[in-house]
Amino acid sequence: MGEKVKFPSMELIKKYDKRGSFYTDYPALGLWEQGFSDKQYREALNELVESGENLPIFFYLHFPYCPKQCFYCMCFSEITASHEKINEFLDNLGKEIDMLKDFFYKKGYKPLFKKVHLGGGSPSMMNEEEFKIMQNHLKKIIDFDKVEEYAIEVDPRHTSPEKMIFYHKMGIDRISLGVQEFDLEVQKAINRVQPVETIEKIMTPEIRKYFKSFNFDIIYGLPRQTRESFRKTMENVIRLSPDRLGVCILGWRPDIFKHQKLIYQEELPSLEESNLMNFDAVQMLTDAGYERIGIDHFAKPTENLAVTKKQGKLHRSAMGYNPGDYIEMVGLGHSGMNRILNYYFQREYSLEKYYAALNEGKFPIFRGYKLSKDQEIRRDIMEKIICYDKVDFKEIEEKYGVNFKEYFKIDLGALKELIEDGIVKVYENHLEITPIGTFFHRHVCAAFDELLRRGSGYKHARDTADL
Ligand code: SF4
Repeated sequence: MGEKVKFPSMELIKKYDKRGSFYTDYPALGLWEQGFSDKQYREALNELVESGENLPIFFYLHFPYCPKQCFYCMCFSEITASHEKINEFLDNLGKEIDMLKDFFYKKGYKPLFKKVHLGGGSPSMMNEEEFKIMQNHLKKIIDFDKVEEYAIEVDPRHTSPEKMIFYHKMGIDRISLGVQEFDLEVQKAINRVQPVETIEKIMTPEIRKYFKSFNFDIIYGLPRQTRESFRKTMENVIRLSPDRLGVCILGWRPDIFKHQKLIYQEELPSLEESNLMNFDAVQMLTDAGYERIGIDHFAKPTENLAVTKKQGKLHRSAMGYNPGDYIEMVGLGHSGMNRILNYYFQREYSLEKYYAALNEGKFPIFRGYKLSKDQEIRRDIMEKIICYDKVDFKEIEEKYGVNFKEYFKIDLGALKELIEDGIVKVYENHLEITPIGTFFHRHVCAAFDELLRRGSGYKHARDTADL
């Protein structure tokens, strides 16, 4: 049995139950500006080249299609069964990779891609031939001998043991499975029926030995889910023993995601019940020997995420926790996110606009943001809060040449109520989230959100995307 986890009271949960940013990016995507284009993207890449450092980069590919709509989905994907469309996407991916390659190689720069993640959408929708075409495009710019993690998101409904062995032969070493829930009634309510056997058949000991890590994505707060059904799901999860897990609450925004209207409010568990599900998951996973990583992830102590956390190399982005020093991110595919030095960029949502920009020889940028020095410091502080539950004032002072207590006087003052509520403690040289505070990371980050204080407010990424 693991240690008894300390949970906050429901009163406290209710008090802080307000919509807001999770601070996986700062400023949040909803605040990025639409005036950014190919021009600024090239300037940012140029700054990366001229920084003189061969910084490790996270390469993300957003595959645009899924064969069926899950009702809870908050990703950006188009539903289709058309392999013609997949091939059209792959042709355009080739064009974009060639543009990137030309850009870097003309400057004599070899980007150091250390992590490759294939997400989406459902990249496992690609058949073997399509996958090979995709990978040959990536090889034009990525030296796979230097890649430390090569991961793919796999939909268990469209994967066979043979396909898993194929992924292994292609060099993939990490698999992320969209599991969500095992209860059949819940699966029906979210339009994603996948009996536990679909997972068992691709996680046999024989297949597992081909991969360093299996990740499960789990969601609580789903329609028809009860505390009891979720406990059973977690028992099955623990029995299947993934190496890493993300356990997240359902983000229900039917005003933004039209398909979420097919999730009926009356079938959703209450705030209280959803939180109890989360508490159960935290306790069960801790008892089973998993380490809690930040806001919503868990890993076995020997898994890379837990190991790099101990080494101080853990980072967080909108793509999740990154086990390594890959802070810069190049994201291709529609809606792909990019973080380059003090810039953010997001690629076009619309495939039509995406392909049109590529045909004009331009990077398809939808929006972006250039952080000020002040915002870079704040982003760093927030990342330390959500990765390590702690901010060392001296570390920030040495890195940025500021006097922490003077520079962040207003921010430290804004922590008053959180301190009174036992969520955070401020000491002479550091601040630390308490055990119950680990359920309120974003509220602590919000105290350092200068944009929020100035009235920019929180905007969902899609609230500000005129699609
Ligand atoms: S498979 Fe993933 S991306 Fe596709 S609809 Fe379902 S949740 Fe969304």
